[in-house]
Amino acid sequence: YAAKTRQCGSLIYHAQLDAGSQESLSLLTELRHAVENEELRLFLQPKVDLQRGRVIGAEALVRWQHPRRGLVPPMQFIPFAEQTGFIRMLSAWVLSGAAKFAREALDAGLSLRLSVNLSTRDLMDQDLPAKIEALLAPREVPPAALCLEITESAIMDDPERALSTLEQLHAMGLKLSIDDFGTGYSSLAYLKRLPVDELKIDKSFVMAMERDLDDARIVRSTIELAHNLGLSVVAEGLETAKAWAMLARLGCDEGQGYFICKPMPQEQFIAWAAAWQPPDISTLSAESAMA
Ligand code: C2E
Ligand code: MG
Ligand code: MG
Ligand code: MG
Repeated sequence: YAAKTRQCGSLIYHAQLDAGSQESLSLLTELRHAVENEELRLFLQPKVDLQRGRVIGAEALVRWQHPRRGLVPPMQFIPFAEQTGFIRMLSAWVLSGAAKFAREALDAGLSLRLSVNLSTRDLMDQDLPAKIEALLAPREVPPAALCLEITESAIMDDPERALSTLEQLHAMGLKLSIDDFGTGYSSLAYLKRLPVDELKIDKSFVMAMERDLDDARIVRSTIELAHNLGLSVVAEGLETAKAWAMLARLGCDEGQGYFICKPMPQEQFIAWAAAWQPPDISTLSAESAMA
């Protein structure tokens, strides 16, 4: 086992392990310990209003501060957590962290919307709305301070059941967002029926739009589609000043990406937001293939 943990990046990444295999059991045990030993870290990445540059929220992104492996990125354990059902415990941990942080931010005079990623298995949990209510109500965090990000694929796994959970969450006042829009099995028929508030354009399109006309067109059409359906739209993967200018000109509401800031430990966020100086949007240059 010791020898295996040394090449661990790949051990975790290729965690399509047989359910009963030794590695799989070890990883599951380690993940359980990670929660008990407080090895999970909540990172936050700012979401900014693209027309005015204000910080309006943050996406909660989990990391695992492993005692030997260092800071493990989510793609190295989330798929495994999804396969084994551990994801529900992980999601509960993230939701609780986001609710606590929303309270801290309010106390610091910041009204932020915290976005949390959920998986199919979370949507299959009939008790999810009650669990979220129990995190928000005692802290007097308004439900609209929480946004749940769900991928098209997670919804399409069992659309009827997902729809029923999403309707309850929406009725409670939570915000709902479709993450990685454009990369999953899209069904515009379902999109129309879903009680969502926001579309999040996948970073693959946003990162390529400055050099690829097709990607630029996809971004533009997604913004139009969202607005025509009465939804707000967020671009993820905003990496350059030019991308900001293009998105602002196309009417995109919000942006998130390395140009603004990489995900940071939650403890740093409030100071970061206080120091944030938006760029002068009128001087960002948008000359591009989009003319
Ligand atoms: P996502 O929800 O689409 O999150 C956005 C990812 O894009 C994050 O990666 C973020 O760091 C990255 N990103 C943001 N801006 C830029 C940019 O400008 N350039 C580039 N190259 N990347 C950017 P991260 O944190 O590694 O998370 C990857 C994925 O892991 C997330 O994708 C989400 O699907 C999943 N994930 C992360 N945290 C959680 C969680 O708490 N629960 C669940 N279920 N999934 C999570
Ligand atoms: Mg997300
Ligand atoms: Mg995404
Ligand atoms: Mg993604």
